[in-house]
Amino acid sequence: MPTQLQIRREMCDIGHRIWHRGYCAGNEGNHSVRISDDRVLCTPTGVSKGFLTPDQITIVDMDGKQIDKKNKMKRTSEVLLHLQLYRARKDIRSVVHSHPPHATAFAMANIPIPEGIHPEAEVFLGKVPMADYVTPSYKDLGESVVAVMNQDTNTVMMGNHGAVCFDSTLMGAYYKLEILDAYCRILLLTAGLGRINELTPQQMFDLLTVKAKFGLADQRLETALKGGIGKDNREFLAAFGRRKKD
Ligand SMILES: [Zn+2]
Repeated sequence: MPTQLQIRREMCDIGHRIWHRGYCAGNEGNHSVRISDDRVLCTPTGVSKGFLTPDQITIVDMDGKQIDKKNKMKRTSEVLLHLQLYRARKDIRSVVHSHPPHATAFAMANIPIPEGIHPEAEVFLGKVPMADYVTPSYKDLGESVVAVMNQDTNTVMMGNHGAVCFDSTLMGAYYKLEILDAYCRILLLTAGLGRINELTPQQMFDLLTVKAKFGLADQRLETALKGGIGKDNREFLAAFGRRKKD
């Protein structure tokens, strides 16, 4: 088990990566790690994630009350979203929220992230649902995210806002953010080519079978052969290109 100081240092390191990759501007974004049943380490408000130091990381209980009174920094208001996720699923031990530009473009357009196109995104993200827009810092922000999740979900787009990724580890949650933004960047580049090729039901079935062998559950495997994947792609396809070569 890592010490609390090691976790704090890792949170600073991840903050630096998030800032360095341009996934947040100014003081945007926040991330947290659940360290026990009733304690969560979370990033403070009002600080660039690129310049975090371990002593600035705050501690909250599961009601969002800040425990470390001597810390001059205040916990992020969006920790309430993180706490909702920890309450919703016990396997979630870390949450990363940010506004990575390529992914956030889809949130601004309210276009669902298309599926059945990119094998990497399918294996590591799976279906990425879109939550309704809610005013940032409002309590029902977390409810809107939890409402669109299932047991397999690890990434949710937040309408007109950004993305939230979660995992059993901080590095795992961060990697999802990185994979999400890379995928969305590729989609936007592909859109410039005027057409996009979707994987066939058989190709998706084979891919999700491989995914299952990695131990990564994906409920879509059951309907893959029936062509159940990609029904939400219509908006993306309509906005940018033609479905297939013709
Ligand atoms: Zn935000």
